[in-house]
Amino acid sequence: METEFFAPNDRIAVLTTQPLDGALDYVAPEGGCFLGAFVEVPLGPRRVMGVVWGAGQGDFNGKLRAVHRVLDIPLMRAELRQFLERAAQYTLTPMPAMLRLATRVPGLGKPPSMRKIYRLGHGAPDRMTDARRRVLEVLQEYNGLSFTLGELAEQAGTSSSVVKGMLPSGAILEQEAPRDLPFAPLDPDYAHRPLSDGQAQAAQALSAAVAAKSYKTVLVQGVTGSGKTEVYLEAIAEAQRQGRQALILLPEIALSGAFLDRVEARFGAKPAEWHSGVTMTERRRVWTMVAAGQAPLVIGARSALFLPFPDLGLIVVDEEHDSSYKQEDGVRYNARDMAVLRASIAQSTTVLVSATPSLETWVNAQAGKYDKLVLNERFGPAIMPKLSVLDMRQEKLTRQEWIAPSTVDMAQERVNKGEQVLFFLNRRGYAPVTMCRACGHQISCHQCDARMVEHRFLKQLMCHQCGETAPIPTVCPSCAAEDRMAVVGPGVERLAEEASLKFPTSRVVTLSSDMFGSARALKAEIATIAEGGADVIVGTQLVAKGHNFPNLTMVGVIDADLGLHGSDMRAAERTFQLMRQVSGRAGRADKPGVCVLQTYQPEHPVIQAIVSGDEERFWHTEAQQREALNMPPFGRLVGLILTGPDADRLFEIGQRLAQNDMALRRIGGQVFGPAAAPIARIKNAYRVRLLVQAPKAAQIQAAIAQWIAPVRLKNTERLSVDIDPQSFY
Ligand code: ADP
Ligand code: ZN
Repeated sequence: METEFFAPNDRIAVLTTQPLDGALDYVAPEGGCFLGAFVEVPLGPRRVMGVVWGAGQGDFNGKLRAVHRVLDIPLMRAELRQFLERAAQYTLTPMPAMLRLATRVPGLGKPPSMRKIYRLGHGAPDRMTDARRRVLEVLQEYNGLSFTLGELAEQAGTSSSVVKGMLPSGAILEQEAPRDLPFAPLDPDYAHRPLSDGQAQAAQALSAAVAAKSYKTVLVQGVTGSGKTEVYLEAIAEAQRQGRQALILLPEIALSGAFLDRVEARFGAKPAEWHSGVTMTERRRVWTMVAAGQAPLVIGARSALFLPFPDLGLIVVDEEHDSSYKQEDGVRYNARDMAVLRASIAQSTTVLVSATPSLETWVNAQAGKYDKLVLNERFGPAIMPKLSVLDMRQEKLTRQEWIAPSTVDMAQERVNKGEQVLFFLNRRGYAPVTMCRACGHQISCHQCDARMVEHRFLKQLMCHQCGETAPIPTVCPSCAAEDRMAVVGPGVERLAEEASLKFPTSRVVTLSSDMFGSARALKAEIATIAEGGADVIVGTQLVAKGHNFPNLTMVGVIDADLGLHGSDMRAAERTFQLMRQVSGRAGRADKPGVCVLQTYQPEHPVIQAIVSGDEERFWHTEAQQREALNMPPFGRLVGLILTGPDADRLFEIGQRLAQNDMALRRIGGQVFGPAAAPIARIKNAYRVRLLVQAPKAAQIQAAIAQWIAPVRLKNTERLSVDIDPQSFY
């Protein structure tokens, strides 16, 4: 129990989100304050928010200032404070930055604003219409619940003016209510589905873990469509029975309305949502209600892990292998690993879910650190798609074509039967390179070491590193030749053009993140496609994740070699995961699916592993290779990225680090670099990298901290440390 209380005038340490070294000392306010209290403190001329982090320690010089006031927010509990500290130690992040992750919500501590809500009145409408009847039915059905104007109109399928028109008669009442309303409880038994034997066993094991209320991590591995979601929803149900909160993490891209609807259908109430598309007011509501224990389930992107759950019993990390769980700027943390850390502190269960687990997780399960549950069969009649390789060396294609004739024939057959086909290419835009045919000049970003990518749909060139855009040139910026600019290579938009030519009577749609103004528009398009509004879908990674197209029976992977070229040690693993995931899109319902991988290297071991379907063999081989090289997860890596306007200075700093590596050698570590990063410049900042490799058991954070301590940077320069790096660009 947290009962530590500081009396008025006690000296206390307060952690703020300001970029300082750590907590600052203050005098406890009149009335005293508890450990973990949210407070407002003076800092220079300003007042900033902070959290009471412990007894004061710093040397006392000058006059100690007093806490201005205690905010009306539930205490930050020991579990969360400890989690932030451990996460900070692990990622080598200063505590203020860590606290910022946990308090990123507007208007904390301010009283909630009010809003108008609508509920059932006692009067009768002066005139009854169909629309008005539906409004009353909605209010009667959800008796006792109150709605905002928009919600009520939407539920009744009518306009807000209809609702407003019912106010004078007293049939509906309009009231003021605080904005931050609690989330409805979830009913664990609302809509049970009978589970298959395999599912039931897995669900039983997960529920037992949740009921044990102690730390455990479980990997749920099973092909797409094997019913993994259905299984972990049972674990959520168990957490509800235990009266504990639950969190489902999803890659941002997979957070779809369909998923939320599914959860609502299972539990009879809407969960809280936490991701970049959530409005500021809703964010505040979610944060506050989570802290108050009045949000039983949160579905969110990685940062939801830092919400102030008072009693978190279960964290599900769906698609746990997804690289978007790693935050690549600011605080570089991996939400999957941090979920395990939080669960270990909160005495709760983590469930890692994937069809193609990360090698890290797979190895942890092999070693018995994690439990492992395997769901091998697709639920119901659906079977795994048949995978095959198409040797592109045997296909006749012009230089402007990428869909092989054999692929076209197969696809045409499917389309003729009224089924859907997906052509997958993991490259946004129209073409990756724009080049002058007269002088060979390639258009690159003026502030990055990257080519500009033509986006014909948006009618511009775009840099995929910094987002910079430019008009599509008609004159070569280098030799001034007119009308000689040409594009090279395919992007998804160009592929769609080719598909339209080759399937002239079919409805061809493109699914790429930058073609939709909003997440809502994208979701609407996905729903339309699922309902049969397209024959041929041309898409990027966006379609690989989580969306369900029941009538899709064929996937053509246009360039299966694309991910294999990289020097990244995870290239094989990533390709394997992506290809398995994409192929999983085919044949989910009762129609068997096929997946064709177009490749110029059909004998490549990764391609072979993908088509053989022998996943365990793939993981074993990968694991052996990594172990032989002392690479993760058998050894540790830490990336260092120096950025700044002066490349020479960055190299100098890097050299000095590389030469003074005693702290690292002491733990058996080794430094590589400095070297220009593969993308040597982003937004006019040069980038220089170092890489540290160390044995698995090494105390690497302490050694790194000691090693980089002497580095002095100008304020235009930055050194970021990336523990367990996922990307090496
Ligand atoms: P995964 O998460 O492994 O991709 P899902 O849990 O989404 O699999 O299940 C795949 C499909 O099978 C979904 O459409 C789901 O509704 C259905 N399904 C899974 N389990 C059951 C069940 N026990 N009863 C009925 N339908 C189920
Ligand atoms: Zn750029």
